[in-house]
Amino acid sequence: MLTTGKAILDVANEKNFAVPAFNISDYAMFNGIVDISEEKHAPLFIGIHPDEVRHIGVDVIAAMTQRAHRSSVPIAIHWDHGATYEEMLTAIHVGFTSVMIDASLQSFADNVAISRKVAETAHAVGLSVEAELGTIGKADSEGEAGTDAIIYTDPVDAVTFVRETGVDSLAVAIGTYHGLYPKTLKPELKLDLLKEIKDRVRIPLVLHGGSGNPDDEIAQSVKLGINKINISSDIKVAYHAKMREVLADAGLREPLNIQPPCIAAMKAVAAHKIDLFEATGKADLY
Ligand SMILES: [Zn+2]
Repeated sequence: MLTTGKAILDVANEKNFAVPAFNISDYAMFNGIVDISEEKHAPLFIGIHPDEVRHIGVDVIAAMTQRAHRSSVPIAIHWDHGATYEEMLTAIHVGFTSVMIDASLQSFADNVAISRKVAETAHAVGLSVEAELGTIGKADSEGEAGTDAIIYTDPVDAVTFVRETGVDSLAVAIGTYHGLYPKTLKPELKLDLLKEIKDRVRIPLVLHGGSGNPDDEIAQSVKLGINKINISSDIKVAYHAKMREVLADAGLREPLNIQPPCIAAMKAVAAHKIDLFEATGKADLY
């Protein structure tokens, strides 16, 4: 069923697992991700970044919400990395059930002010809000905008931030980067910091830039209280690596012949993430 981010994440927080948020800007990939989530009986966030919204068009959101309504698993359609209040209004208007406001590059006071305003508006119409404190890095040219160096989330500030804004979930910076890690950059999560934040902040915590991190670190972060993990690069790499292979046959032209093996490759990666996040079978809890 279609539901809000809060409805999904509060259960994940209570039962100590993480829900994957797969970034989608292609309808075939969307269908594949919903299918694998149903096969794994796992709750799901469909994450769509504003750049991806511009690519796919807002009209597709209605089709996605229809698909979610008749799904056997809980699905939130989530506006990823909203930058402005006006973007949030668009998200609400076109049918998203969860929004992220990311003012993490602004001052603490400005981040609090806009996150609070977005939370008040979204809550007025029953939707949920994720905000970000600290900034995650940008690892490659196709990664989302960020800082070259990570600004780690301060646990004390996090308590103040959550209290002042009333947001439903919080994205924290504990060592991940958006995009794919170059060979010179070794991903390393500060798990002690995560533990400290989780001890103080009761709401669900979110990990962005979850692609390319070692599985054991991700598994640890789930055990320590991460409840949503954003995966974009890893599924897109799987999809398009297979597509390059398929398109070696120059005789192919029909998407219905080209896309299915690519979808299958993407689903295999997504299935692995769902297992790693301990989300498999968790749709039963809703
Ligand atoms: Zn992100």
